[in-house]
Amino acid sequence: MTTNFWQTFPSVAVAIPFLFVCGFMTVYFLGQKGFCTYACPYGGFFGLADKLSPGKIRVTPACNQCGHCTATCTSNVLVHAEVKQYGMVVDPGCMKCMDCVSVCPNDALYFGFGKPPILLPRSDAIKRNYSLTWPEEIVGGLVFFGSFMAVRGVYALVPFLMALGCATITTFLTLKLWRLFRTKELSFYRFNLKSAGKLRRAGWVFAIFACIWIGLNAHSGLIRYHEFLGGRAFQRIHLPDELALAQLNPARWLSSSDRDNIVQGTGHLHAASKLALFVNSEALPKLAWLETVARF
Ligand code: SF4
Ligand code: SF4
Repeated sequence: MTTNFWQTFPSVAVAIPFLFVCGFMTVYFLGQKGFCTYACPYGGFFGLADKLSPGKIRVTPACNQCGHCTATCTSNVLVHAEVKQYGMVVDPGCMKCMDCVSVCPNDALYFGFGKPPILLPRSDAIKRNYSLTWPEEIVGGLVFFGSFMAVRGVYALVPFLMALGCATITTFLTLKLWRLFRTKELSFYRFNLKSAGKLRRAGWVFAIFACIWIGLNAHSGLIRYHEFLGGRAFQRIHLPDELALAQLNPARWLSSSDRDNIVQGTGHLHAASKLALFVNSEALPKLAWLETVARF
């Protein structure tokens, strides 16, 4: 039990950018279910569980393969092809939102129970078209990981889900920017970013925005690097507060490795606070403590 329930949530100053990033930007850049598809940490687990699930979107013989269902699905499921081949939707990306069911002009789709996908024969798998090549997938994975590590907990402010949202957007922008400079034609929604090998005005706006966003991410990474090393050096000093803050000179309790950690910790936390865009309320007391003991 807790009497201070709201203490477990981020402050308003964090909640507003959190909603902006996770509620607006991820939807704008990655589609209605972008966060669920690319960033939700539970998605990987549910994806596996879905293979065992008997509850599926299933089809009746009334289907005439018109494709309305696939066009409607915002989870990029090839509904018409899957129901034709398997008699049900087997893609674990299906969120059972029932959009396809309600749009089918022949009332051919329904949610029902039956054989789970794991029991289906593995032959004749549906050939899917992926929007990324293998090298892009790998680069995207590395960018996502680096961005997540850079943003998570920076300034002791950014919570886990917000870091996932930021990392997802950074990955999308990086890959799109990469394509902007490599392909001759590129569009984003109704905006023509590049045509006939020439960057359009929308393309310049996109490139500038992407560079600012990626630059801020890299800056967060630098701050996080200094905060992490400063915090680790602080943890490694074996000097109780009672001694450090007593009037007596605590120098004789400081080992040579303690002194090294004091120098390193002070340097890293100083660098972090000098470069920072926001105050880290957890790092400042550590820096003050390190500066106090550094005098001896
Ligand atoms: S919308 Fe209905 S009829 Fe058309 S392909 Fe999908 S399931 Fe078949
Ligand atoms: S239920 Fe929703 S997510 Fe699943 S296939 Fe139909 S439209 Fe797509």
